Amino acid sequence: MSRGRIEKALSGFYYVRTPEGLLQCRARGKFRREGISPLVGDWVQVRELGGGEGFVEAIEPRQNRFARPAAANIDQLVIIGSQAIPTTDPYLIDRIASIAVLKGCRVLLCLNKCDLDPAQELYDSYAASAIPVLRVSAATGEGLPELRRAMKGKLNALTGNSGVGKSSILNAMEPVFGLPVGEVSKALGRGRHTTRHVEMFPLDEDTYVIDTPGFSSFDTEELDLELKARLPETFPEFAPYLGQCRFVGCSHVKEKGCAVLQAVKDGKIPASRHRSYVRLYDELKDLRDWQ
Ligand code: GDP
Ligand code: ZN
Repeated sequence: MSRGRIEKALSGFYYVRTPEGLLQCRARGKFRREGISPLVGDWVQVRELGGGEGFVEAIEPRQNRFARPAAANIDQLVIIGSQAIPTTDPYLIDRIASIAVLKGCRVLLCLNKCDLDPAQELYDSYAASAIPVLRVSAATGEGLPELRRAMKGKLNALTGNSGVGKSSILNAMEPVFGLPVGEVSKALGRGRHTTRHVEMFPLDEDTYVIDTPGFSSFDTEELDLELKARLPETFPEFAPYLGQCRFVGCSHVKEKGCAVLQAVKDGKIPASRHRSYVRLYDELKDLRDWQ
């Protein structure tokens, strides 16, 4: 038996990186019977059969799990946005960020195309939020070293609205090892996204990036009761104020004596982040509590 990480899932095969090399594995039938499937990003125990093949025998406990992309143990969600065409709606950024925070995943906002538009308003608003923000340009290379540093040592998932420059950024971030420049987005299968093919791509020896579908389909089914119950926690900049509202069970939407609302008024929480919170709250409000 050896330990490895699933780097790719394709047509029922799992490609597991072990100290001995890449093994093409099938999953044990017991996983199917238990309704579990191995995921890209999973740390697993494999039994080698020889000839570069093996079986996934056990899956180690996961730090998190996403349905779309079908992946586990994602350390950081990198949201690519832009203020140049196409622009990115801050509500969509905040909604995806909340899901990621709920799953215990770091979030990084990366504003691209800053050669065309510095995205000053978005930048200022996120600089004052709990979400770290970077400005980059895939065209000029500005900010890319910082982005690379922020992605270092992690399994990163990239998302963003179509046309925002995800492929361009990946291609501009010269892989230290792996495929040659220009092959990255091809390897990630951009434009040919299928649910059966998920792959984590190495940017260097301990940094990976995983392709994800766009905003529209990013784990939207996770917008559920758990998020409803824990919504205020998924806006980490609310944390210092949550215990200080006048009423227990304050929803932080419009109550009198709400410390969160006061912090928004005082400029301590960006108004745009609170607007997104209210919109998410309204969206989740009608979900039924199944008891
Ligand atoms: P994706 O759909 O998010 O993968 O976006 P693409 O990488 O395909 O980029 C969409 C378009 O925006 C292409 O025409 C790119 O050349 C252009 N683009 C991407 N990044 C930048 C940038 O930083 N500056 C400028 N001026 N154009 C960019
Ligand atoms: Zn409140």
